[in-house]
Amino acid sequence: MERLDRFMACANAIYYAARDPYADFTTSPEISQVFGEILGLWAAVTWRLIGAPDPVLLVEAGPGRGTLMTDALRAIEGVAADFRAALRLHLIETSPRLRALQAGRLPGATWHDGLDTLPRMPLLLLANEFLDALPIRQFVARGGGWMERFVEDGQLIECPSPGAASRAGLCREAGEVYEVCESALAIARWLGARLAARPGAALFLDYGPEASAPGDSLQAIRDGRPADPLASPGSADLTAHVDFAAFADAARRAGAAVHGPVPQGKFLARLGLFQRTDRLARTQPPARALGLIEAARRLAEPDRMGRLFKALALCHPGCPTPPGFEAEPA
Ligand code: SAH
Repeated sequence: MERLDRFMACANAIYYAARDPYADFTTSPEISQVFGEILGLWAAVTWRLIGAPDPVLLVEAGPGRGTLMTDALRAIEGVAADFRAALRLHLIETSPRLRALQAGRLPGATWHDGLDTLPRMPLLLLANEFLDALPIRQFVARGGGWMERFVEDGQLIECPSPGAASRAGLCREAGEVYEVCESALAIARWLGARLAARPGAALFLDYGPEASAPGDSLQAIRDGRPADPLASPGSADLTAHVDFAAFADAARRAGAAVHGPVPQGKFLARLGLFQRTDRLARTQPPARALGLIEAARRLAEPDRMGRLFKALALCHPGCPTPPGFEAEPA
């Protein structure tokens, strides 16, 4: 019998070490180069907002095959040579296989297993679809108390879980499932404390509802299709919805200013997704131009990736509102 979060951590470690995740799913930076370019420009503008520290860490958590950062650095080089010269590239990645891919595209980077070994310097952090891969625990409301889900022989079983009730304050209905991602909360607390003490900002793009909501969101993708998350551990990508409200709250309590979450479509449109795409499309042959425009729509349209995916920023409390998070005009 194994706790669900330990099962998920182990299964994903095997999966990312052994398989090509992009054979099973695609992500925003792989859909359009403009995604990474926009995030690079976000980092450049935010660097100025925090006082243009030199040197500064540019960190990506979970860089996959390095596409986002490659596109971001190209955009930064084009408009902010001073930021390019000041930045030190650090990558958070546990998979040796993906580290090797990243090394081919991002020479000069430094790798870490987690955030806690990053040098004590001002930092700008980018993370796309990183938090959703972190392991979750699940609690179920039963008979006025709480049970925790464990994995045994490919099945979920429920066992009494002392201490679960205090975590699961949200659930009221019997049978409701409440998820907690302790690794994500630890990252929020670490960044909150770090950003309270030093200039910096962190931008997370991921999928999940705006408000914490009960429900089982654990899902597996194998060979590009939904699969049983508990069958053949390591053969499928396991993810869960990000609880943005809990993540934001943990970071705020630790001292960071929080902006968002803002739906991804709105965030990217505010930062010029369609203008940049149009400008790029004009220089391309017709089929590629249409592909770029379709890709931008896929990232931004509400019934595609534009609403379920959200952007959330954590900042040093003295930092002005970063781009894309401005209040709506009344
Ligand atoms: N950001 C990329 C990849 C998303 S897949 C993209 O948008 O395409 C998730 C990434 O996080 C992979 O690089 C995976 O190896 C990494 N990862 C997953 N769990 C991790 C953990 N616990 N610590 C560090 N990296 C992790």
